[in-house]
Amino acid sequence: MENQKDLYTKADIEMMRAAEKGRIPGKNRVEELIRFAEESGIKRIGIANCISLQKEALELKARLSDKFDVYSVDCKFGKIPGAELLGDATVKGLSCNPAGQAEFLAENNTELNVSFGLCVGHDSMFNMKSKAPTTTLIVKDREHKHNPYKEFTINKL
Ligand code: SF4
Repeated sequence: MENQKDLYTKADIEMMRAAEKGRIPGKNRVEELIRFAEESGIKRIGIANCISLQKEALELKARLSDKFDVYSVDCKFGKIPGAELLGDATVKGLSCNPAGQAEFLAENNTELNVSFGLCVGHDSMFNMKSKAPTTTLIVKDREHKHNPYKEFTINKL
């Protein structure tokens, strides 16, 4: 048990405390996100969204803007042709750019980032490149209307 505790720095423990205080029984994840950020003393929040969820991302931005400075960036940021990025002439259209989203939010000194509807793999890349801690609000799931929970028979969490 002792060496498990050693896995956490002082700052990690502060984040764990804020997560504990951020729990609001019966409330939704957006409300818990707000509470977690407040408990962490966070002032600047970033949103990295899938471009197909632009409207919803802007709604979240407006909601969070009451209490925080909020920066959002969609996944086509930088407008890089997919064929060029991937070195494959058969790839059509603009590529997603999760590294560019992470860089944009880092340049705006966000202290907490929200992954918002990014695809599998693109979300992994964003999480890897993000300078600030990242929490996920929406995941891309084309079959289940972005609610993969429906895939499982979990009735109580
Ligand atoms: S690749 Fe994924 S994150 Fe990018 S636009 Fe398409 S669905 Fe959205």
